[in-house]
Amino acid sequence: MKKVADTLGCAIAPETVRVRMAPSPTGFLHIGGARTALFNWLFAKHHNGKFILRIDDTDTARSTDASMHEIYTALQWLGLEWDEGGDKGGPHGPYVQSERKAIYDAYVTQLLDSGNAYHCYCTPEELAEIREQARAEKQTRSYDGRCRHLTSEDIERFAQEGRKPTVRIKMPDTPIRVDDLILGSRNIDPATLEDEVIVRSNGMPNYNLTSIIDDAAMQITHVIRGTEHLNNTPKQIAIANALALEVPQFAHIPLVLDDAGRKMSKRHHGDLVAVNRYREQGYLPAAMLNFVARLGWSYDDKQEIFSVDELIEKFDLARVGKSGSVFDIKKLEWLNSHYINQLDLSARTDAVIPFWQEAGLIDSTEQRDRLENIVEAVGERLTTLQDIIPQTRYFFTDEFEYEPKAVKKWWGGSDEKREKTSEILTHILQILEEVPSFDVETVEAAVWKYTDENDIKRVAAMQALRIALTGTSFGPSLFDIVILLGRDEVLKRIPRAIAHL
Ligand code: GLU
Repeated sequence: MKKVADTLGCAIAPETVRVRMAPSPTGFLHIGGARTALFNWLFAKHHNGKFILRIDDTDTARSTDASMHEIYTALQWLGLEWDEGGDKGGPHGPYVQSERKAIYDAYVTQLLDSGNAYHCYCTPEELAEIREQARAEKQTRSYDGRCRHLTSEDIERFAQEGRKPTVRIKMPDTPIRVDDLILGSRNIDPATLEDEVIVRSNGMPNYNLTSIIDDAAMQITHVIRGTEHLNNTPKQIAIANALALEVPQFAHIPLVLDDAGRKMSKRHHGDLVAVNRYREQGYLPAAMLNFVARLGWSYDDKQEIFSVDELIEKFDLARVGKSGSVFDIKKLEWLNSHYINQLDLSARTDAVIPFWQEAGLIDSTEQRDRLENIVEAVGERLTTLQDIIPQTRYFFTDEFEYEPKAVKKWWGGSDEKREKTSEILTHILQILEEVPSFDVETVEAAVWKYTDENDIKRVAAMQALRIALTGTSFGPSLFDIVILLGRDEVLKRIPRAIAHL
């Protein structure tokens, strides 16, 4: 494999970049995971490289197929298609780690045979004791490497006791140099690294082993991942060196934090970190990608809106910050409404139809023209596509409540005031029954003629009617609502309001 040049400044031969996202299918796709996927995908696209999706499922107890498919769906929704791996296959497969055990076993044998790894027979109780002692002595390592020196008699005895060994890698005595394209270079003091367990006592290989083997086997040139893996990197380099594997370049992306500086996590933030939540609530993939791209990456101090093509063109690891980025939901909402407003009427209608269907408000018999007219009337009021439901429910059903606050303010708090509102609505009802043509201009002119001639404030009449028709005091232009509801419906709803008054 060609050694890939440093990306900080040096040009990369386009065909050489191979990056990967390696999710563990133990839950939903997290915002942080989406960002890892996006940064890898952008890096691949920018360099004309390949984006590989590897499934890290060696933790068989926690991995599920359902989670794996949820991750596929979330990535596909975001448009982050992969070139190899996942359900697609490719020349370096299989891409699912649970199907690669024979490969790992072969490498483990190589490590054991070359004396770079050894069996450890310590029981969990013994390990706890060793850890305790290390803590008391203020040691930096919590395992002292005692099983490095077992005699064949020791091994015989342990085997007879039925102990199942783990396999540990011998950490080197010399410093490990970690070059990071974002965080810079560090030398890791070997005294801080203990002999890592690379195979569990049940025979299953551990993440640090499988990850670096697969990165080499899949010819990954750059490992771009979150800083939560920073401590794993020297261990993985040590394993690669012991196996004479090519070491990829590393780039660790700082954490996504909340506004209190805490890591965004499922435990603290619930489904706020789940990508699917945003799809369900009607965020557009373009808004999500734009938002996620800006979690840690910036082009300059000013630009906030980036199309996907622009991101591909401009994305560069050199502009990924070293410190954590703050998750600001307000910014995501702002971006989402921006992208919704960018859609033309037809595309916006297509985007909201599934939400109306899901809410049971429309079926296939609904007229497309009417739907487009409703979307047009709503205008730029949507922050999420889901907002279409509360904002337009009354167009499809008359089963709504009159909002108490609106009622109090516009229909009136006193009997006298309500009497007056009832009178106004009765007049309007009559006008609407009689107008020769039911279109915005005619209806509007007729209603204003009545209010102006009778010294009734236009706003008072308008709001009284709006509540009668929709239950609320906010929404699209009133006369658009009147026309979209149609004469029959309006003539039913006004008497119902009068009866309520
Ligand atoms: N399976 C690991 C994770 O989901 C992958 C880490 C890596 O990219 O090496 O965090």
